[in-house]
Amino acid sequence: MKNKSIKGNEVDHGKLIINADWCKGCGICTAFCPTKAIELKNEKVTVVDIDKCTQCGLCELRCPDYAIYVGRKKNEQ
Ligand code: SF4
Ligand code: SF4
Repeated sequence: MKNKSIKGNEVDHGKLIINADWCKGCGICTAFCPTKAIELKNEKVTVVDIDKCTQCGLCELRCPDYAIYVGRKKNEQ
């Protein structure tokens, strides 16, 4: 389910989970995202087009604040 709130400001976008409380808007994840599925808006990371996300994990790997991470993959239960 898209945009399902998990806890606090953590939002499940399906492929991707973002915790806006922890995002400081540094833009590292958006700079590394190879498909431009995410961008900064009002100094917070936001999903532009979740269909573009390949779940490559670069945003999760590069975020210094653990504010973005890849959700459950299709081949996982
Ligand atoms: S997992 Fe990869 S494709 Fe998806 S938003 Fe993060 S960097 Fe972009
Ligand atoms: S790298 Fe992390 S803290 Fe920086 S904009 Fe992305 S989600 Fe926010």
